[in-house]
Amino acid sequence: MTEADTPEGDPLEAAGGTEAHTWRPARFMVIAAHPDDADFGPAATASRWIDEGSVGWLVCCTSGDAGAEDPDTDPLELAALREREQRAAAEVVGYEGVSFLHMPDGALVNDLILREHLVREIRIFRPDAVLATDPETLFHRDRGVNHTDHRAAGYAAVDAVYPAARNPMAFPWLAREGLAAHRVRRLYLFWSNTMTVRVDVSGTIERKLDALRAHASQLKDFDRVEQWTREWSAEIGKEIGVAAAEGFHLVVIDEDDEADGTASAGAVESEAAEAGSTG
Ligand SMILES: [Zn+2]
Repeated sequence: MTEADTPEGDPLEAAGGTEAHTWRPARFMVIAAHPDDADFGPAATASRWIDEGSVGWLVCCTSGDAGAEDPDTDPLELAALREREQRAAAEVVGYEGVSFLHMPDGALVNDLILREHLVREIRIFRPDAVLATDPETLFHRDRGVNHTDHRAAGYAAVDAVYPAARNPMAFPWLAREGLAAHRVRRLYLFWSNTMTVRVDVSGTIERKLDALRAHASQLKDFDRVEQWTREWSAEIGKEIGVAAAEGFHLVVIDEDDEADGTASAGAVESEAAEAGSTG
């Protein structure tokens, strides 16, 4: 297209390029507000990375105890049911395990209590990348309001990753009890209005749908969910020329050290260069 040669360039290029994102973390953690968020979110990417050798862990801040229409629903019974559904879905994706932090559904707050819980999870599992809801999404681009818990979980995940998890003096009792500081090198923010990378999930979109099917208590009309999921992933896939993709706002905190695959001391300085060359 000749339009791409204008000074402004191709708008898609400006939004992260037209190639599939291929970097893969050896270990990754998904931090979500509710059971089912990870499956409506990055489940196909998680499935693909796990198939290719990554190890994944899922953290649910709440157990979805407010996720029903009937006000007489027993919230503890609902939480137990939703944890069972999430564990079944996590098995479909292939996570090594799931942690539930049992924070209140609908009242999640990015406070120091939640941050300490997340720092503990990060320092135990020691992921290279954390996947979380983009906290800056107040309204979804197409329509609708992003749930307050999704925003709170996103802010909490970002704040736990940087600087708390890597600072031994943040919650110092954690380091004293053996949970050493840990540097998460990348954030992949999903449900973002400012996608910068797209992962080809043509091979694992069916796994995402299978994982979603496990959340039976939340699905009144699975056909609609399936149709919407397929259309949305196809739309993102089209941007990189594949059948299906999931998109993220990527934040590189530490560059890879080419020698041993770990973060190098001066990595933060080259952050801007990396951010400009993603995709
Ligand atoms: Zn949710």
